[in-house]
Amino acid sequence: MHYSHSVKDRRMNEASVVEIRLARHQGALLRELSEKYGVTMGHISRIAAGEMYPTYGGPLTQDHYKSQTHCLRGHEYTSENIVIKHGRRNCRRCKNELDNARRMKKRADAKAGA
Ligand SMILES: [Zn+2]
Repeated sequence: MHYSHSVKDRRMNEASVVEIRLARHQGALLRELSEKYGVTMGHISRIAAGEMYPTYGGPLTQDHYKSQTHCLRGHEYTSENIVIKHGRRNCRRCKNELDNARRMKKRADAKAGA
């Protein structure tokens, strides 16, 4: 797939900004989000860090997440369900779902390209 010529840094609405931040928190890749929302990876990175649209979705702080007992999709944070990555908690079930989706997409892409 070729996105490079069509990717433009367009203005995002608040719902998309919040979605991007949540997805990044769950470990989504910059590339995936870049393709999904049609903006550059740098754009996604700055949105996720709160450098862009800082007023959207409220302030983004690590403390907010530290106090959570469930992931953003409602899976409970238990010792079995937590994966520590880059010093942050990630939900194992969300990660597995994401991995599965990625694997299926890869398979579909391979089929389409054959
Ligand atoms: Zn989860």
